[in-house]
Amino acid sequence: MEIPLRSYLDDILDDVRPHDDGAVADYIPELAAADPEPLAVALCTSAGRVYSAGGPHADDEREFTIQSISKPFAYAVALQEVGVEKVLSTVGMEPSGEAFNELSLDGGTHRPVNPMINAGAIAVNQLINGEDSSVAARVEVLLDYFSRLAGRELRIDERVTGSELATADRNLALAHMLRSYGVIGDSAQDAVTGYVRQCSILVTVKDLAVIGATLALGGRQPVTGEQVLDPRVCRQVQAVMASAGMYDGAGKWMAGVGIPAKSGVAGGLMGTLPGQLGIATFSPRLDASGNSVRGTEIFRRMSEDMGLHLMSAVPARGSAVRSIRQRGLGTVIRLQGGLGFAGAEDFLATVAGHELKTNRVVVDMRRVTDVDGFGRAMVLEGLRRIREDGHRIGVIDPDGLLGDRTMDDGTSVETSDEEV
Ligand code: GLN
Repeated sequence: MEIPLRSYLDDILDDVRPHDDGAVADYIPELAAADPEPLAVALCTSAGRVYSAGGPHADDEREFTIQSISKPFAYAVALQEVGVEKVLSTVGMEPSGEAFNELSLDGGTHRPVNPMINAGAIAVNQLINGEDSSVAARVEVLLDYFSRLAGRELRIDERVTGSELATADRNLALAHMLRSYGVIGDSAQDAVTGYVRQCSILVTVKDLAVIGATLALGGRQPVTGEQVLDPRVCRQVQAVMASAGMYDGAGKWMAGVGIPAKSGVAGGLMGTLPGQLGIATFSPRLDASGNSVRGTEIFRRMSEDMGLHLMSAVPARGSAVRSIRQRGLGTVIRLQGGLGFAGAEDFLATVAGHELKTNRVVVDMRRVTDVDGFGRAMVLEGLRRIREDGHRIGVIDPDGLLGDRTMDDGTSVETSDEEV
């Protein structure tokens, strides 16, 4: 069987190919000279399956510089390596509503307002590998992390680095400003060199989809299985990306597309759908905010067609309680699906509204697919209360979803026979 997703991606590319609005970034000579035509898209699922399309020239294999899409990942590395407190004392997390390279700092604290604009990203780069680190060692740490996130060894495009450094007046101005307020310690030249090298790491859409999926999945790289980042780091990064990732276009993006995302001036666009997917596109012509025109259109369509908008979550259909059946001297409560807040609440409310007529009551977990800490605690608490009402309780839980089954009072639930 052929998976229809691939032809769906091909069709999307064909649909948006005629759009030639926008222009390639022209303030970095090497990017100004880039071919504006490449067009590619990739998806990576939680199981690590990667689907991509790149048209007749296999643009999904084509490398381009990551540019600002490095910002959320460098932010993640800083959070992971130096901790939330230090990072938050250096850079804020409010949307700026300004262009990516605006000469702006928070009026009161003189910190950059968020890590997605250049001022913030230069400050974040400085946090990597400690204050005394050389530029080379800092970039090495980032390159190593980015490579583990992508699941292959990435490298830096030296020509783009050189080209950007030769015309880096604006970023140098930002670095001087940061240094004058003591936000960074390195010379402006070194700070910008580290940041520009970070921006010149070469990736393909497939790399970006896999890295995005890693963020979406709480830091576990779905292809290699390596836990690269902590879940809390990933949550923080995606939250900031959702509010500030698309610069001054962030509000419109969130309303129309609804996927936390980050764009880069080389034409890349990377999005994360928490718990589900990483998505990436590549097309170099940019709109006035510096976001890829055709990339934006692809995201908009995929969000619509595949129901990916974060805010359009429909209520989970079906109940967590599959059935409550009386069998002889016992009652079996069969649970099903995922048990998070909604499932646990459904279990508690359904059981509370049901008159249990037998002495023995058993919860059958065999159709439960997964359970989080809250769901587990609530199932155990429900069982404890059933026991308090005078019943003898048991569970059927061959996969150990309820852990060691210790309830609030320190006792634990015993295993029941298959059927009561
Ligand atoms: N290196 C680029 C810069 O600092 C990155 C900007 C971007 O991708 N938006 O100007």
